[in-house]
Amino acid sequence: MRAKILVSACLMGHAVRYDGQAKPLAHPALDRWREEGRLVTICPEMSAGMPVPRLPAEIAAGKAGRDVLSGAARVLESQGGDVTDGFLLAAENALALARQTGCAYALLIDGSPSCGSGFIYDGSFTGRRLKGEGVTAALLRQNGIQVFSDRQVDELVAAAGA
Ligand code: SF4
Repeated sequence: MRAKILVSACLMGHAVRYDGQAKPLAHPALDRWREEGRLVTICPEMSAGMPVPRLPAEIAAGKAGRDVLSGAARVLESQGGDVTDGFLLAAENALALARQTGCAYALLIDGSPSCGSGFIYDGSFTGRRLKGEGVTAALLRQNGIQVFSDRQVDELVAAAGA
């Protein structure tokens, strides 16, 4: 049986983002994988009990997901609340589900402090981007799961098989 693919819930049309919106992604491969039962959907932040909507959060001080995992960085809300523990739990939940269901790949929306895999924001809440990963993407990669962003579906098709 071919490996499954963990997918960000907001990409699958679930309105779970901090702003109460979804960011649905349309691609024929996604339709096929869904029909074949290869997709495993999770919103890591909701799995950790975060509400919808919620305040935007960013990894502080220009750090990245791996720094949060090592205890060297925090995740802060726009009004200063420390939500680091929730983001760590979110990442652990995503990894646990990936392992339980046999996911070798993940397709995650870019830019999120959890799901970002190519870029994140720099912690200033000014829209400045940094190259780097969110907390969930970093933990998945540290555990051997290949993570692709929503702009890399064709690369994922090549890796995971259409
Ligand atoms: S944690 Fe991931 S799946 Fe959930 S809303 Fe944020 S980007 Fe989407």
